[in-house]
Amino acid sequence: MRLRLFLALILLTFFVNPVFAAKPTPPPPIPYSVCVDAGHGGNDIGTENQELTEKEINLQVAQLLKEKLETVGYTVFMTRTDDSTLSNADRYNFCNAQTAAILISIHHNGSSSSAVDYSQALYMKKSDVALAQEVVNTVSTSLGIPSQGISRFASGVLLKAKMPATISEGFFLTNSTEYSLIKNNNRLEQEAEALSAAVQNYFDN
Ligand SMILES: [Zn+2]
Repeated sequence: MRLRLFLALILLTFFVNPVFAAKPTPPPPIPYSVCVDAGHGGNDIGTENQELTEKEINLQVAQLLKEKLETVGYTVFMTRTDDSTLSNADRYNFCNAQTAAILISIHHNGSSSSAVDYSQALYMKKSDVALAQEVVNTVSTSLGIPSQGISRFASGVLLKAKMPATISEGFFLTNSTEYSLIKNNNRLEQEAEALSAAVQNYFDN
């Protein structure tokens, strides 16, 4: 009898002790949801070409992408909607807290040569690869520029994002042709359309 009581107490301690309690399961991601992160912002300008700054171009593309995705029924979260300065932690903490299904961080590349131009997508985790691949393929094809493919990059945002994530470097802002396409054509609209198509392809596959 005594032994049984002793065993019962041991078992009770085991289940009541929070150390042994099952970890709470994280909430499931919101279906068809995207956390859109406009890179840089505030005193962090990014790359630039004359009066065009990367932080502003990133935000414009992010806003166009949000509109396009919402039109087709997606839920979109934005890490910033104005010129605020955000840390990497601000970005991934926000996206993780929203339980977004995927994260796309929008950037544009820079070079000391105004002739260089290509698309590239960055990834970190194995679960980022399919999304990064889809983004760089769709953006380079739509913009009609070469693709540099995907590249592994240990960015804080990619490291700490709990969902598949990628950094899109759509084109080189420092490129002279891109400069005139932004000024005289609907280059950013075109890029946002490509990113929206990439997101839809990713979810449909
Ligand atoms: Zn950037």
